[in-house]
Amino acid sequence: MNERTNESAQSRSENVTWHDSAVTREAREERRGHRGAVLWFTGLSASGKSTLAVEVEKALFRGGYFSYVLDGDNVRHGLNGDLGFTAVDRTENIRRIGEVAKLFATSGALCLTAFISPYRADRDRVRELMSRSRDFVEIHVSCPVEVCEERDPKGLYKKARAGEIPNFTGIDAPYEAPEGPEVVVETNVYDVEACVEQVLDYLKNHGYISSESRLRAVSG
Ligand code: ADP
Repeated sequence: MNERTNESAQSRSENVTWHDSAVTREAREERRGHRGAVLWFTGLSASGKSTLAVEVEKALFRGGYFSYVLDGDNVRHGLNGDLGFTAVDRTENIRRIGEVAKLFATSGALCLTAFISPYRADRDRVRELMSRSRDFVEIHVSCPVEVCEERDPKGLYKKARAGEIPNFTGIDAPYEAPEGPEVVVETNVYDVEACVEQVLDYLKNHGYISSESRLRAVSG
């Protein structure tokens, strides 16, 4: 599909012209030997999104795949430093991240995103943003809030319970679980390694990355 048809409805300037790249996405993907896509990890705080995104990326990198992680805190320091945690700001946060992830995917990368992204409509909007429907792989990092609160690696649940963090997802702000995610990993049931394998298996079985041998051959 021509990228022009997906031009953002948010564009406010009439004098902006889309420039198609001289190098096609297909050519980039052919050279790299794999598809570009967005691997969108969603789930409660401390469910394991960052841990899994980082570990999946490590496996992909070892396998010679072109990948990049966009992580919640890192993006909030820079690109989205002006946004807070109200519903409106969360929506804008996800919209911008979706646009960036899309650019990565069209560059031929496997872009892994690790954001709570609690609202179903926001995630669905990102899915619709993609130039190909298969570009969006939604990975529900599922874990009961009680387990997340017990883990609390950054002490955020403790602060939220003390009233120091308003609008905290799972405590006083909602989390809307995906209804039809491509992958569900249950991090309270399976360990990190098993969850990573589950994601890699999905990518292999659906033609995003090549055979198992390439992953094994390089990771040794
Ligand atoms: P999030 O990015 O969702 O806020 P983190 O990845 O920062 O979560 O933290 C998740 C915590 O849960 C880490 O301390 C991690 O070691 C632990 N954990 C336990 N089991 C798993 C699992 N199967 N997958 C991912 N993380 C797990």
